Parts: sequence; structure tokens; C-alpha cells
Amino acid sequence: MTPDSSPIGFIRSALLTELREIVRGLRFHLEEEKSMGFEGWPRGSGRPPDQPPLPPSNLEAIRSELGDCRRCQLHANRTQIVFGTGNPQAKLVFIGEAPGREEDFQGEPFVGQAGQLLNKIIQAIQLRREDVYIANIIKCRPPENRNPQPDEIAACEPFLIKQLQAIRPRLICALGTFAAQTLLKSAEKISSLRGKFHEYQGIPLMPTYHPAFLLRNANHKREVWEDMKKIKKEYDQL
Ligand code: URA
Repeated sequence: MTPDSSPIGFIRSALLTELREIVRGLRFHLEEEKSMGFEGWPRGSGRPPDQPPLPPSNLEAIRSELGDCRRCQLHANRTQIVFGTGNPQAKLVFIGEAPGREEDFQGEPFVGQAGQLLNKIIQAIQLRREDVYIANIIKCRPPENRNPQPDEIAACEPFLIKQLQAIRPRLICALGTFAAQTLLKSAEKISSLRGKFHEYQGIPLMPTYHPAFLLRNANHKREVWEDMKKIKKEYDQL
């Protein structure tokens, strides 16, 4: 190739010389580092310390981590684990107590009679079951539907917390005394907890009566409707 003697040719050749110098300097620097035992940068080391933490693992990963869980005695009598269901990016999560007979059988929360009523409650705020996420404090059915025990909650709650970290809902509705008291670490009655937002893991949480309780005490439906209107108002502003 004949050398280009025009001004552009001159600039191009000067730039090329400079580029070669830079590459040579870089190569020399890397060879030197290598000779001193440097084996490369650890993965992710370029992340500045003030960046938000890496996103938590997704729901499938959490389900795999749970595996064929035997962390508490409830595994002995369950048919299957009831992990949770719904939109993995739901803005609203409902949390009940524990699977009942039907849920244990089908592997999905709130599919029995109480679940039918929960579906109606969800529809009443113009949402569908697929829009929200539904889970329980405990993922295995307690024998005779007894209340879950502290060691069972301690074994199971970390997975619920991870689910919430993955979903990142903006609102939680705790269904019934047990869910509300457990999540809020409170001994107050559901009648005084309900009706106002509390906070769980930094997320506004509205306790309300459990649908199974409403099936036996229809006169409390009005209060649940009041609670749901408050949830809906917040939801619409998200
Ligand atoms: N009651 C609950 O608390 N959870 C269910 O999944 C079903 C009934």
C-alpha cells in the first residue's frame, strides 16, 4: 500500500501509531501483572458499592430451594407442599394461615369454600385471582387443621419472606387472626388490627377477617368490604 501524503493520511497514520503504542503499553502492563500472580478480576467486581443489591432469586428458584421440605414435622402428614400461586409480579399479595384439606389435595392455596369466597372478594375490587399472589404462612397442612406451631412457623416463614422479596408486592392483605398476628408479631385481636395499614418487611399490610370466618359470620362482611376499599384505593394509586 502506497503511503498517503495528504493531511488526512498524515492524521490517520499518527492515530494508528498512537493506538499501537496504547495496545503495546496495555499488553506490557498485563504481562507484568500476570508475572506477579494476578489471575484476572473476580466476576462482578466492577459493581460500585452504592448500587442496589442484586435482585433476589425468582419464585422457581425459591421453590427448588424448598425442595421436598422436611424442615418441620408437618411433612409427615401432608399430601403435597402448597407453595403459593398467582402473578409473580403481583402488586397485591394475600396471605392466609395454612392449607386445608382441599388445598393439601390440590396443591394450591384457597381452593376450597373459603377460597371461593376469597375469589369473590378479589373480584369485588375489580381484580382477578391471576392478578394477585396468594400464599399462606405455612405451606403444609397441619393435622386436623390445628394452628401451626412456633417451630413450624420458624421453619416456613423464611420462604414466605423470600417469596415476597422476589414478588416485591406493594400491598399485603393478611387473612385472619393467625396470619395477621404472626406477620405483625402481635397478640392483638384481629378486630382491633383490621381496618388500618400496618407494615411487614417494609410493605403496607392490611389485616382483615379470614374468608372461612366470614362463611360462619356473614355479619362481618361489611368490615371486610371496608378493608378492601382501603386496599383498592392504595392499589389504584400505585
Ligand atoms: N385457609 C387458609 O388460611 N389458607 C388456605 O389456603 C385455605 C384455607
